[in-house]
Amino acid sequence: MASEALPTLRHSNTPLFLFSDYHMHPQGHRVQRYTQELLQPWADSAARLGLRDIAFTDHDRYHAGIDFDEINRLREQNSALQIRAGIELDNDPVHSPAGRKWIEKNWDKLDFVLGSVHFLERADQMFDSVPDGAGQFEHRNIDEMYADYFRRVRQLIASGLIDAVAHLDLIKIHGHRPTANIGTFVDETLELISARNLAIELSTAGWRKPVNELYPSDPIIESAIKKEIPFTTASDAHSHVQLGENFARLTDKMAEIGIRRVCIFEKHKGVQVPLQL
Ligand SMILES: [Zn+2]
Ligand SMILES: [Zn+2]
Repeated sequence: MASEALPTLRHSNTPLFLFSDYHMHPQGHRVQRYTQELLQPWADSAARLGLRDIAFTDHDRYHAGIDFDEINRLREQNSALQIRAGIELDNDPVHSPAGRKWIEKNWDKLDFVLGSVHFLERADQMFDSVPDGAGQFEHRNIDEMYADYFRRVRQLIASGLIDAVAHLDLIKIHGHRPTANIGTFVDETLELISARNLAIELSTAGWRKPVNELYPSDPIIESAIKKEIPFTTASDAHSHVQLGENFARLTDKMAEIGIRRVCIFEKHKGVQVPLQL
């Protein structure tokens, strides 16, 4: 890394420097056509934070807003920043079939596809909407819901078309904890991730949700390290001011747990890059 990197994201006690954010939503939660006006504030925030590599990953249901020419224009205007064209592929029973078709059609223009499970039994509400989604957990067997969630994650992985899995244990978002040991199906999921050569993200979004915990939890991260699964770093920002949120805290966590590299993607090819300056 070049030495002019800003210190904002570097924890004072570690020599690690996080330079990439691979999960963000310029469109927020509606279709907003990509324009320089919409995208430039994201590049500005990235520059301010010292981020060198970012991926736009709007939800597949808003694919109509994505414009690759505008991304190219933004690249020309911000040549110090790597800007990856990406998308977050949901398991949305209503919209994601069309999203998948769009991804297949635009595969060669995309650098990065995140896979996410946001839907359980209800097709009309993401279980991770806060606070309403918590209603889906009322009077339910939480162990079964965890098993169901991870089964859906494996289905999504097996269906192909993704480069990394987002917020791997999102099911904990509202703070519901399993009583049974979830190790077996987490392990099965990680095995599949490893077999498919996918990455998983370390997402600071969990720290701003009711669970107040990094996605995924430490035991999952430790198992992933043993299986040599690469990690991306992610804020899941829905506004450019959320970009790189809590990355200093994430740096601390990564140093503590022994992660020294992050994975970046260009045209779906992942490369692990050392975090040392
Ligand atoms: Zn998501
Ligand atoms: Zn997201």
